[in-house]
Amino acid sequence: MPNEEEAADAFGVLADPTRIAILRAFAEALDRVELGTDEPMPVLSFSDVYERVEIDSTSQLSYHLEKLDGTYLRHTEEGWQFTFAGESIVRLFLSGAYAGDVEFEPVDVDGQCPFCDAEALQVVVDDLALLRECDDCGRRMDGIQVTPAQIRDRDPESLLASAKAGRMALFWQFRENVCDECGGAIDLEFHDRDAGSVLEWSVRGRCRQCWRVVHGPPSIWLATHPASMGFHWDNGIDIRTLGFRDLIERLESGDWQSERVGEGEYEITYRVDEAELRLTADDDLSVLRAERVRRDSVPDA
Ligand SMILES: [Zn+2]
Ligand SMILES: [Zn+2]
Repeated sequence: MPNEEEAADAFGVLADPTRIAILRAFAEALDRVELGTDEPMPVLSFSDVYERVEIDSTSQLSYHLEKLDGTYLRHTEEGWQFTFAGESIVRLFLSGAYAGDVEFEPVDVDGQCPFCDAEALQVVVDDLALLRECDDCGRRMDGIQVTPAQIRDRDPESLLASAKAGRMALFWQFRENVCDECGGAIDLEFHDRDAGSVLEWSVRGRCRQCWRVVHGPPSIWLATHPASMGFHWDNGIDIRTLGFRDLIERLESGDWQSERVGEGEYEITYRVDEAELRLTADDDLSVLRAERVRRDSVPDA
């Protein structure tokens, strides 16, 4: 378990613009590394760093490098190099994630408000949630978490596509036992179905290291499994483009179903018209069997 005192010391080291500039110089060097070099993580000598950073004297640079040593940079015989923390923190800086909310102008989108039937839907961003809002009755729906870097430099269509694809990719990564944020291992917890709600039946994935949580019904977790991606693609559906509303509709209509069929065994069914895919999964969400069937296919008399 990380210790608060050590963390406070490590973060304290960063409270200096020159040190951020030094880390940025390493990020720039990394950005220019050519493919196929033996040393994918660039090493900068003392004079390399001195050339790249605005600083008054070599003694000042020595002082700052010493502060960064061990946590954000490591000292080798040839010079200085990023540590994992150094690279992560500079990427956080470059993404502007700490810099607060970003502006996003609401845009009109097609579709009818499910509450008041008005054709007045807009896509808005509020507190880093991407939502649809009815301009008539003011009600809001959906909601996908987005990041500041995700909003910048994108038009609304590309933002929406990135949010949908990002959510699906998140389930994929968690299912593969990798936290997208820190790389930690994932614990899965199954919650049994509660009569009446399509969302109560869910699997909660939690990162053991950073506590990031993702949850949804098994049918959403397994939607990005190759068997499901292929089945949907063959039936005219691109899984990456499904929005929140599309997912809820599939769950509510029963087109996507998840059922417990035995101890630690689950059956997930996906339907598109007459076509059906049945997946059998265990409680690691590993697919044991995949079977495509046609429903109601009455043989010709
Ligand atoms: Zn409305
Ligand atoms: Zn994590």
